Amino acid sequence: MLPIWYSPIYTEGLDPKARFPRERYRLVQERLAAATVSGGISFRRPCPVSREDLLLAHAPDYVDNFIKGQLDEAVVRRIGLRPWTEVIVERTLILTGGTVEATAWAIENHGFAANLGGGTHHAYYDFGSGYCIFNDLAVAARVAQRDFGIGSVLILDLDVHQGDGTAAIFENDDSVTTVSFHCEKNFPFRKMTSDFDVPLEEGTDDVTYLDKLVCFLRRELSPMDIDFIYFQAGVDPLASDRLGHLTLSREGLMERNQLIFDFARAKDAPLVITMGGGYSDPIDPSVEAHADLFLQAAAEMK
Ligand SMILES: [Zn+2]
Repeated sequence: MLPIWYSPIYTEGLDPKARFPRERYRLVQERLAAATVSGGISFRRPCPVSREDLLLAHAPDYVDNFIKGQLDEAVVRRIGLRPWTEVIVERTLILTGGTVEATAWAIENHGFAANLGGGTHHAYYDFGSGYCIFNDLAVAARVAQRDFGIGSVLILDLDVHQGDGTAAIFENDDSVTTVSFHCEKNFPFRKMTSDFDVPLEEGTDDVTYLDKLVCFLRRELSPMDIDFIYFQAGVDPLASDRLGHLTLSREGLMERNQLIFDFARAKDAPLVITMGGGYSDPIDPSVEAHADLFLQAAAEMK
């Protein structure tokens, strides 16, 4: 069974008026619940992440001001997701907790686990941006190292937008390798420096994308010692995505996902999948692609 952390607050904690497709969480969960897949799926309810865990990757002032609802207007504006609901704090803590709990499960069971949310890679040490408040990947990676003695962590970010917050948080940390495949002419317009950045031209298609990914995995990552992998599996490289600018197909994304699962198997490394971005309008192609990802991962669980 693939365990997937999920709570209805992922959707309900966002205002329907927010410029963000909040329904995608609910729609993906419904699709998964209705599907039959060989390995099976079990949904788990996440608990809120602790303040102590957040401080492994975030500044105390930022964490405390957010929790108390005292962030400056300019800081809130940079995050977006407005208008904020009364439960935005609870939602954010639970969503981050999902990735932390999936990490513990993946390590203890030496397998794959997932969060039906998260991959909030634009959050920096002391501020948020681009729909991201706390960086679940960074927090969970540091929890894995603190609580489970994990040495080298790989964060493989295949969302169409650069994982700028993650890159900045781990800039001077050799124990965490950050990789970002992203559309070069896209948000964030001021790029940070990941350990490996693979900028892609607008309009990049399946063939070019997959060729680059295969060669990158083989040449750069195969020789490395990796104890744990995060897969930020955004589906916003889809041709239909309104924030993407690439032209990948649903099948191309499935092939991408399979390459990462095969790579994790070859490395014998536990893997946590986070959802990342998906902004097709209407949202259906994004929902399908997100669901494909989790179903493919579940089929890997024997
Ligand atoms: Zn994105």
